[in-house]
Amino acid sequence: MISLEELAASEEVRQEYKKAFLLNMFQKICVRMERNPQFKAKVKNLFRQSYDKCDTVSAIIRNELKYDELSSEDAAIMQMWFEANLRKTSRRKVIPQEVKERLYKSQNGKCVVCGEELGNDWSKIHVDHIIPWKLVGDELADNYQDLCETCNECKSARIDYLFKNLIKLI
Ligand SMILES: [Zn+2]
Repeated sequence: MISLEELAASEEVRQEYKKAFLLNMFQKICVRMERNPQFKAKVKNLFRQSYDKCDTVSAIIRNELKYDELSSEDAAIMQMWFEANLRKTSRRKVIPQEVKERLYKSQNGKCVVCGEELGNDWSKIHVDHIIPWKLVGDELADNYQDLCETCNECKSARIDYLFKNLIKLI
């Protein structure tokens, strides 16, 4: 079993924490856009008129959240999320069975959160959006993972689910 120190020093853990940190900032902006249509229109306009979209992301994060240390690599990740949010529709896409089966194979038949076998009852295997559907819709490629029924029910659209993902390393 991996020790807590090894866990804290792991690159995978660092990446997951970073993603959760970025996602938390992104979610805050999304909540503001949802509550304030004028703000959403302003953000939309900023992106439409922007020559450097990473720069636009950094400016939004700086102005809204007073955070001034976004790297260009992180801004590029958030740019994808912002663009997905601004073009997403309110209707959920039906995720094809092929996608579920492809994920099943790539995950070696295991749930990504708890690591338990997914089993062979397809009705109990759930395709989940890694970045919550509410924030990015079905606009991102490779934003899916197979979860067991329990993990799917525990997750809903909560960001802190990402931390649970780390447990699989223990
Ligand atoms: Zn699970």
